[in-house]
Amino acid sequence: MKRLLLFHTGGTLGMSPFDGELRPGDLTKELFRYIPEAQALADIEVRVLYNMDSSNVQISNWQLLAAEIERELDRYDGFVIIHGTDTMVYTASALSFMLTNLPKPVILTGAQRPISAIRTDAKSNLIGALELATYDVPEVGIYFDHRLFRGNRARKLSIDDFDAFASPNFPVLAQVGLNIELRSDLLRRPSGLFRVNREFSDQVLVLRILPGMAPDLLDPLLDGPARAIVLEAFGAGNVPIAENSLIPFIERAVGKGKIVALASQSPSGAVDLSLYECGSRAASAGAISCADMTVEAAAVKLMFLLGQFDSRDKVLRNYPLPLAGECR
Ligand code: ASP
Repeated sequence: MKRLLLFHTGGTLGMSPFDGELRPGDLTKELFRYIPEAQALADIEVRVLYNMDSSNVQISNWQLLAAEIERELDRYDGFVIIHGTDTMVYTASALSFMLTNLPKPVILTGAQRPISAIRTDAKSNLIGALELATYDVPEVGIYFDHRLFRGNRARKLSIDDFDAFASPNFPVLAQVGLNIELRSDLLRRPSGLFRVNREFSDQVLVLRILPGMAPDLLDPLLDGPARAIVLEAFGAGNVPIAENSLIPFIERAVGKGKIVALASQSPSGAVDLSLYECGSRAASAGAISCADMTVEAAAVKLMFLLGQFDSRDKVLRNYPLPLAGECR
């Protein structure tokens, strides 16, 4: 029988109602009361790392998870992480960058309704994640509503559907129905020794632009501590270049040694700064493209690369390269 380590980190799955609102509850002792059948899938050990609403997640939480996986890698065949849905894609992206040449499954899951609720998605999400963690899936994945996504390609698109996640720019890795249809052809494979890189920068900012926005709203950023600014631009990465042009801001930010990266407000498709003048002028001003990355992965990748390298040039050289299948 395979051995799995199930980390509990919090989120709705284990929450209980207090005074009309959901707060972290004490799930772990009772987990197998809710899903006794899981014990037939694998020999599962449960470990509570922390128990909180995932909106409180910090870099230190990613580092703790990575350190636990590194420490226990040889003792277990796979890892499942119960995590709040709100920031699950950030944690999945961070882990995918930290865990280089990951040889075993690391699957995050959670739920839209607590496991104690009668109509809950928690049981089927957990069972599916645990079962997939017994497969040969050397990926950081997100399992939700019968689908396994590459974690750094996924986005939380719905607050109130069971079908909360999607992976607009990459196919689903596995579909779980009557059978498990696993796309083994898409899976990543380790190409060297497993290692963990821990450092992140906390000086990355994401900002959504708006038609008619006064560009001088951004001026305080020029002398602020942000080392990288991800602008969620329009369509293929376009920004205003006429009235209220953002080009002077981009030029000045880049001139001050900051990275300006252009992502898209459209969830599906890739940024292409050569398609329109509104993109090419931004590229000439020194902005870089987030290509087909999710904005979440694009931002966490900057946090990660800025944590690895002091040199801005090294970050810029590495940014377009896929580190963990997060871009083409
Ligand atoms: N606020 C919760 C969290 O992310 C939502 C959830 O788990 O679905 O922790």
